[in-house]
Amino acid sequence: EVAPNSPLLQNLNPEQLAAVTLPATHALILAGAGSGKTRVLTTRIAWLLQTGQVSPGGILAVTFTNKAAKEMLARLSAMLPVNVRGMWIGTFHGLCNRFLRAHYKLANLPQSFQILDTQDQLSAIKRLCKQFNVDDERFPPKQLAWFIAACKEDGQRAKDVPVRDEEGRKKVEIYALYEEQCQREGVVDFGELMLRSYELLRDNAAVREHYQRRFRHILIDEFQDTNKLQYAWIKMLAGQGPDAAQGASAMPGGSVVAVGDDDQSIYAFRGARVGNMTDFVREFDVTHQIKLERNYRSFGNILDSANELISHNSKRLGKNLRTEAGPGEPVRVYESTSDFAEAQWFVDEVKQLVRDGSARKDIALLYRSNAQSRVMETALFNAGVPYRVYGGLRFFERAEIKHALAYLRLLENPHDDTSFMRVVNFPPRGIGARSIEQLQDIARASGCSLHDGVSAVTGKAGANLGAFVAKLDVLREQTSGLTLREIIELVLQHSGLEEHYKTEKEGQDRLENLAELVNAAESFVSQEGFGRDAVAMPVDELGAGPNSTLTQSPASQGLDPATLLDEPLPELLVPDRDTGETLSPLVAFLTHAALESGDNQAQAGQDAVQLMTVHSSKGLEFDCVFIAGLEEGLFPHENSMSDQGGLEEERRLMYVAITRARKRLYLSHSQTRMLHGQTRYNLKSRFFDELPEAALKWITPRNQGFASGLGTSAGGWNGASNSGAGGGRGDWASSVFASKSGSAERFASPPVPPQRNAPSHGLKSGMEVFHAKFGEGKVLMLEGSGDDARAQINFTRHGVKWLALSVAKLTVV
Ligand code: ATP
Ligand code: MG
Repeated sequence: EVAPNSPLLQNLNPEQLAAVTLPATHALILAGAGSGKTRVLTTRIAWLLQTGQVSPGGILAVTFTNKAAKEMLARLSAMLPVNVRGMWIGTFHGLCNRFLRAHYKLANLPQSFQILDTQDQLSAIKRLCKQFNVDDERFPPKQLAWFIAACKEDGQRAKDVPVRDEEGRKKVEIYALYEEQCQREGVVDFGELMLRSYELLRDNAAVREHYQRRFRHILIDEFQDTNKLQYAWIKMLAGQGPDAAQGASAMPGGSVVAVGDDDQSIYAFRGARVGNMTDFVREFDVTHQIKLERNYRSFGNILDSANELISHNSKRLGKNLRTEAGPGEPVRVYESTSDFAEAQWFVDEVKQLVRDGSARKDIALLYRSNAQSRVMETALFNAGVPYRVYGGLRFFERAEIKHALAYLRLLENPHDDTSFMRVVNFPPRGIGARSIEQLQDIARASGCSLHDGVSAVTGKAGANLGAFVAKLDVLREQTSGLTLREIIELVLQHSGLEEHYKTEKEGQDRLENLAELVNAAESFVSQEGFGRDAVAMPVDELGAGPNSTLTQSPASQGLDPATLLDEPLPELLVPDRDTGETLSPLVAFLTHAALESGDNQAQAGQDAVQLMTVHSSKGLEFDCVFIAGLEEGLFPHENSMSDQGGLEEERRLMYVAITRARKRLYLSHSQTRMLHGQTRYNLKSRFFDELPEAALKWITPRNQGFASGLGTSAGGWNGASNSGAGGGRGDWASSVFASKSGSAERFASPPVPPQRNAPSHGLKSGMEVFHAKFGEGKVLMLEGSGDDARAQINFTRHGVKWLALSVAKLTVV
């Protein structure tokens, strides 16, 4: 049955081959970074399909990000001519969304239910707290959001949460009100997607049994970061749920193959349970445990660094990782005098790498917290280096985009009060806070949505609100039957958003983003066919069972749905939509906007340097990786330094960061850093002491002066004009020198003392200046001096920007 000569199976080592061709049992693959776990999962799916053991509809694969899901689908369709749409490959949220779309009635949701992202959820909670006079000092909305999310991740509805004290009682009460509000408005948050799918499976035996029969093979990547509810959901689908104990009536579910790495568990702070791995082995009676010990990603020095670092953790399941690649280049360590100098060095290094032939997309900058990206972005921007930031404020979370989406959502569902509140007076149309309060009172008293409450508001307020609702109704009518692109264009125009931003002082960027929204919709429709996550299964694909004719002839390889229908659907399970019908493009796009990061919309296709937090780099790899800001308090993060568990999680995070690099790794730290408006003096990270000396190359002299954090006076740092706060060790100068020179070899040259009193840029705050690209502006603030000088300028047309004065060409007007 196994076809060892299949091209699919070539280039696998014996352990990988064993994992790919496992029989249909439960298995755990526990292996370190870069050992081919994800590759094994993908190849196993291809192998199962190719050998006819399963049809595309019988596969359920969970990936950690949408990006990973797309990559997996792309690789599979390159390997085999399969109907990838029939395969359930995606993130937990994406898959649950798909499931709920198919069974929205059973799930007690409106057909076009909308998804609240984290921001929407927070504003929904704020609105609720206001309505019920909740003291937001005692119960900050953010904390309530965390509380609700944590309850849901624990599988608890408000009524299930144990109450210990008065405060707990109040929180649970708010949770219950929030649930009611979401239900009334027809919206679900991320946690709800998961919990509601789980409950539907738990409470509906016919649905559960159907999917248990259907998914013969369940594969899960990054298993170490699953939470309690996700694991329970998997158990349910795999027939290890409530039925399992009932003997004869038990429905045997499919095989579950989980891959993970306990050393890369980095979401404990959000409820992930490494314990799921040991539970899985016990509860599924896992007999196949496979270890992969060869790393294919990184050169020796990089891998040695990762191994040595992680060996400082005590709680480990224990595994080894070796490589057959040579040691490669040493890991470069750089110390800078300021975050600004660090950024400048980084940009110089990137430029050199690009000159030497690297593609920008193969270079990644990783940082511990999002706040670090601003200085880096400024430096890249000023140097004209294209870059892309992953995470941070997602495209779909920008205010102007949220406004546009709110109008679009109201077209679909006028009772979406979150969207209603967002745009009822945006662009401003004279509807004040008092009118809105009046409307909220009416809506609450009569238990209706804000939209429906409008007719009961009297006077001028009533007239204004009535005009807003009428405007929405007209828009709804005008857009019916239009394409997605036309709908969005019409809404941007007739909502007044476009006009508003045209007249707004800093509206240019926002207008560009709105134009980008139209592009995003366009490419969504053409490339994605409305996006896989968003589209419900046509009914004929739901019945796909294990005995498909997939391998018999290429023509029938899962492409003809009729051949997949080998089991009639119970009536109950016919999805709540007609055969083959999918969601409206608008609903599909709105879902996509809530679930996707939207990173691809920004600067799509451009060869750009990749910037992201370490958390979002999980599973990815790059030729060249920079890890910046390796300082005590930053990485390891100050919030996690007080307890052992927190510190070990930081160390795993550092392990993830190091193991992203294929060929070249840079680690940098800075003596000073501006954070939250203050200059901080930081010690270098303890992680440096946990790396093998032999693998490192210090490209700035070690232990240079300026003992950071040891009480040096704040005035000690002044960029190039520093006059030896370094305790007389004399090598301070070289680091300043190094921070501004060109290539790697430069560090061999003897240090040249920095110029004292570098020429002043002659700017003062309040001055009017002109910049070739940004036009006219006014200087708000100046920082640093000499080469490190930077200015914050408020440009008339482009808003407030930080510019490096050594690079930016400014003229005083
Ligand atoms: P992570 O823990 O970071 O998610 P992983 O274990 O999932 O890593 P993969 O991303 O699957 O590892 O593989 C790492 C790299 O090694 C990939 O570029 C992959 O193509 C390559 N690789 C894996 N196995 C082999 C092999 N047998 N031969 C050649 N290259 C391989
Ligand atoms: Mg992986």
